[in-house]
Amino acid sequence: MTTTPGNLFIISAPSGAGKTSLVKALLQTGIDLKLSISYTSRPARDEEADGRDYHFVSREVFEQKLKQDEFLESAQVYGNFYGTSKKWINETIVSGRDILLEIDSQGARQVRDAFPATVGIFVLPPSLEVLEKRLRNRAQDSPEAIGRRLASAREEIGHVGEYDYVIINDDLDKALQDLKCIVHAESLRMTKQLVRHHSLITQLGEVPVP
Ligand code: 5GP
Repeated sequence: MTTTPGNLFIISAPSGAGKTSLVKALLQTGIDLKLSISYTSRPARDEEADGRDYHFVSREVFEQKLKQDEFLESAQVYGNFYGTSKKWINETIVSGRDILLEIDSQGARQVRDAFPATVGIFVLPPSLEVLEKRLRNRAQDSPEAIGRRLASAREEIGHVGEYDYVIINDDLDKALQDLKCIVHAESLRMTKQLVRHHSLITQLGEVPVP
């Protein structure tokens, strides 16, 4: 199994579960965790900035990068291409920092193949009614687009069983607390602690390394 000094977290959710706000809130706590910035062929939304929210590239550039094997994982979501930089992940992981990938279940599967110790977190809405309401409140979408998003959301929810943790996002503060607990608990795992506190542990006793 490929073990890494830092933890690799994946967070996935159907659209409307509030994942982006949750990740934003987590990063604002000042947590020591690096967020991977994906490449995408979709156009930037008004509030988004290149290099901060995504690396926005044309479809041609994306396809070129795909051909040159620059992505650790890639997927097509709602007709647009998304991918995670293999170089950035490999460089950041050796630094020992924790990494967070905000990607969908197709990408999660590919990352798990490369790094089986990946910690998968799935965010769910508290009910179907709330999910529908949140999708409808996105004013820019037509009724057809909302219908398509809802169908895709339910399809994505079908992958929840492939993840290690589930957070129900009813209340943002509570969901944030849950997310922080997961990140903290994972940092205390035996495999991580043995590396981090190797000299202390070996000083304290005869410890067989697993
Ligand atoms: P949005 O376009 O609304 O920002 O994202 C749409 C979906 O694409 C979300 O489910 C998001 O998690 C997913 N996504 C964003 N970046 C990546 C990526 O690099 N890889 C994969 N597989 N999915 C991504």
